[in-house]
Amino acid sequence: MRIAAVAILVAAVVAGLIYSGVLSRHEVEGAARKALTKTEGVVQEATGGYHGELPQNVNAAAKCRETLKKIEAAKRAVAQKKSQTVGTVPLKEVLDYLGWQKLPACPSGGTYSLNTLERVASCSIGGNQTASAEDDHMIQNW
Ligand SMILES: [Zn+2]
Repeated sequence: MRIAAVAILVAAVVAGLIYSGVLSRHEVEGAARKALTKTEGVVQEATGGYHGELPQNVNAAAKCRETLKKIEAAKRAVAQKKSQTVGTVPLKEVLDYLGWQKLPACPSGGTYSLNTLERVASCSIGGNQTASAEDDHMIQNW
């Protein structure tokens, strides 16, 4: 919304300058095209479509979070069966519950940790401190 307000203001000023003959229409068109290209870059960056959050990273992170949720759900199910609410749950029991031989590898090369019941399962890649959680390799408590 703020970008729109600034754009309207700039357009009004430029129109005024053209009208008063300070700027030629040709100059303004070139500058406007440059500004538009720049704005597109800023918008892309703000929406997470720019550097750091490439679609393949987002897809890999989504797969990673899916796996983390499966691991965490299995860990809690095993603990519940034993009426356990804190501490560690044996990895073997969690794998047996899932029907897995071992923990899979994260699609981005991270490794998974079961952690205790006080801390959700995690990927070694984790989060990257950006505003978007889309490319983060972590799940929240639920
Ligand atoms: Zn991961």
